[in-house]
Amino acid sequence: MTTRAFIGLGSNLDEPAEQLRSALQALDQVSGSRLAAASALYTSESLLPGQPRYTNAVAALDTSLEPLALLDALQAIENDQGRVRMERWGPRTLDLDILLFGNQVIDVPRLQVPHYHMHARPFVLYPLAELVPADFLLADGRALAQLLQNCPFVGLERL
Ligand code: ATP
Ligand code: CA
Ligand code: CA
Repeated sequence: MTTRAFIGLGSNLDEPAEQLRSALQALDQVSGSRLAAASALYTSESLLPGQPRYTNAVAALDTSLEPLALLDALQAIENDQGRVRMERWGPRTLDLDILLFGNQVIDVPRLQVPHYHMHARPFVLYPLAELVPADFLLADGRALAQLLQNCPFVGLERL
């Protein structure tokens, strides 16, 4: 059985657009997984001052992995692409977040899904909206259209 997961990709170091393109290829190589679709790339200013501009996208991944095994695979890709963990929310070559995992709501120490802050991040919601129907509901019942309405397309540039 496969589950459709949505993965948020972000980078603001070392050629972010290239980092995202490599990450999309790596996602397609994850065991038991297939890259079903990817959004356009979007750029925006960092939420924290003094960091380079971010490039973000969202991918749809069909996977037979369990959620924590998928998280392991994503963190391995982050590490392969040179992610160094310094301070929280520091600049990074690659960040891969599990935004949604089918219709599952997950709350364990390593993993919360839907991703806890996706509702407030235009660089997540607008690319996600490219990949799902207009009446899409998150696993916890929230309507994506409503989240978009509350999160204006401000400061985003679609490449
Ligand atoms: P944010 O979570 O605010 O987007 P971040 O992506 O920079 O910040 P990281 O340092 O990449 O945070 O991740 C910290 C930890 O978050 C990870 O080690 C992982 O265990 C945990 N985590 C919890 N929920 C998720 C999720 N949905 N996707 C990815 N990691 C998650
Ligand atoms: Ca993140
Ligand atoms: Ca992360």
